[in-house]
Amino acid sequence: MLSSSLPGGARVSRWLLSGAFLLGSLAARAQTTTPSSVWNNKQCAVVLTYDDAIDVDLDNAIPALDSLKLRGTFYLIGSSPAVSKRLPEWRRAAQRGHELGNHALFHPCDGSLPGRGFVTPDNDLSKYTVSRAVAEIRATNTLLNAIDGKTARTFAYPCGDRQIGGKYFYDQLKTEFVAARGVTGGLQTPAQVKLDDVDCYSINGQDAKYMIDLVKQAQQSHTLLVFLFHGVGGGHSLNVDLGAHRQLLRYLKAHEKEIYIAPMVEVAEKIRTAQQSGAARK
Ligand SMILES: [Zn+2]
Repeated sequence: MLSSSLPGGARVSRWLLSGAFLLGSLAARAQTTTPSSVWNNKQCAVVLTYDDAIDVDLDNAIPALDSLKLRGTFYLIGSSPAVSKRLPEWRRAAQRGHELGNHALFHPCDGSLPGRGFVTPDNDLSKYTVSRAVAEIRATNTLLNAIDGKTARTFAYPCGDRQIGGKYFYDQLKTEFVAARGVTGGLQTPAQVKLDDVDCYSINGQDAKYMIDLVKQAQQSHTLLVFLFHGVGGGHSLNVDLGAHRQLLRYLKAHEKEIYIAPMVEVAEKIRTAQQSGAARK
């Protein structure tokens, strides 16, 4: 026996007690640091994001989400005609819990990169100064605040471009957003998520099985899965079939008890809290 090989019974029991205390506190710590506590005590988190402020957001995507009481994030381009012409509908969508995210005022992309023939001289990020990019994004926050009355929201990089002349323009905006979504594919634990460049899966033509398999992978790995949609049933050159989108939503709804489904701002706030408290671990 352990106690007989050590002198002093009292000292041994103190040692055993402190050992038990240590194990107990480790167990308590493990409980608070599992990804599931960040994911609302569910297996994983899924965020549905829709870019570019197009009519199909209001005509197809939001009705599909609302019919199942699911909520998503819509990254609006401030200058989009679908914003100016349909302000009351965006306001009502925000009132039902959807996030109106910031996708800049004019959607500037870096025209100096390969394959960027679509970038016009007016909206070429490589011709911007950092202060102009920052000012336009701030103006878009003012516009969005006038629509939804909210101050906490997230940003999505147009075309995923994060730099102007080697400078990360979001560095000047970090305190004004909860997070920024990038365009790189990946599933991440709360500790792995980079809040200034959150990973996502961009969907263009993939079927429901592909998307649902991604959700299952997130469930197994207890990670964050972000979908990036443009067109839903048309409306954009990057598109998801309306039926495939509906099947994904139905799967999510059927597994709502195991999957934390919320707009980016809500999920990112939980990740930020966990990362700041040191609770998020790999
Ligand atoms: Zn975009």
